[in-house]
Amino acid sequence: MAGSEIDLAIIGSGAAGITAGIYAARRNLRVRIFEREALGGQSALAIWIENYPGTKKMKGAEMMEQWASHLKEFGVEIEEANGVESVKKAGQGFEIVTDGKEKVKAKAVLLATGTENKHLGIPGEEELYGKGISYCANCDGPMFKGRKVVIIGGGNSGVTNALWVSEIASETTLVEFLPELNCEEVYLADLEKSPIKVLKNTQALEVLGKEKVKGLKVKDRGSGKEKEIPADGIFIYVGLEPRNELAKALGCELDEKGFVKTDGKNETTVSGVFAAGDLGSGALAQTVWAAGDGAKAALAAYDCVRKTGN
Ligand SMILES: Cc1cc2nc3c(=O)[nH]c(=O)nc-3n(C[C@H](O)[C@H](O)[C@H](O)COP(=O)(O)OP(=O)(O)OC[C@H]3O[C@@H](n4cnc5c(N)ncnc54)[C@H](O)[C@@H]3O)c2cc1C
Repeated sequence: MAGSEIDLAIIGSGAAGITAGIYAARRNLRVRIFEREALGGQSALAIWIENYPGTKKMKGAEMMEQWASHLKEFGVEIEEANGVESVKKAGQGFEIVTDGKEKVKAKAVLLATGTENKHLGIPGEEELYGKGISYCANCDGPMFKGRKVVIIGGGNSGVTNALWVSEIASETTLVEFLPELNCEEVYLADLEKSPIKVLKNTQALEVLGKEKVKGLKVKDRGSGKEKEIPADGIFIYVGLEPRNELAKALGCELDEKGFVKTDGKNETTVSGVFAAGDLGSGALAQTVWAAGDGAKAALAAYDCVRKTGN
């Protein structure tokens, strides 16, 4: 629903934002969903989602398209490529300014801005971003068909991406800093059957190459020996950090890692501002969690709008 005065502004259209939109619309709130990039958030980047009840195995992008279409049934469109630049308290409610400089008044705000991939901060990483360095194998992996790829990070994201990339790459190496991988057991069996070379207890030191990625310099943390792994593409999955700029600007309290603190009803320490999904402190960082959290936050925002008029 377009319009410059609304009840609830939902910022972010990942699993949390879309579910919140469905719940808010069904309570007849005037709601808009602002999305800086494309609909679906991180879930849309998952190659397969295999743990969402009711859908045994589905492409993440397909699942999110379905959610968005479900949301549309309730009259709410995701405003893609229409991010929120700033939000501030204004009278009883809030003033939102979009990236396109539109000003919107809202009675309540729901922050569902999720997370982004952490960077390692090693030499060559920033310089060679887009020239062989990527944080999304699902998006950029096909460019490395028949070529050598290194994946850094042995959690679920790193391992699942290594598994599918190994089907098209000529060589795939998985580098993990810790002595053991930190992914779910189900993926370990797949890994054993795959051609992936796994280097545990190994520190990534430097991305090699000038115009484009040529390899990765690593150190075996046990022996201290350094070596170079030739690579055309390097995908980095070493954790997530919260997209908390708007929360910070509003004055919401954050935990020590920068995630937004909320009460049992998803309200932040700023009255009328709610947070849901991966952005929230203690989130499970899973689609199913983000959906439930978004639903809870939308209903709390509804109560806030209805009871207090704010
Ligand atoms: C590769 C990968 C694989 C995964 N696989 C699985 C899986 O198999 N199963 C599972 O359960 N979970 C999986 N996850 C985790 C799951 O995707 C997340 O837990 C979920 O996406 C969190 O949803 P969210 O709505 O909180 O945030 P996000 O999905 O991160 O969505 C946040 C949205 O907010 C937008 N945004 C940020 N700032 C602004 C702004 N200022 N204005 C407007 N919009 C903004 C972003 O563009 C983004 O679209 C995976 C994640 C990744 C990265």
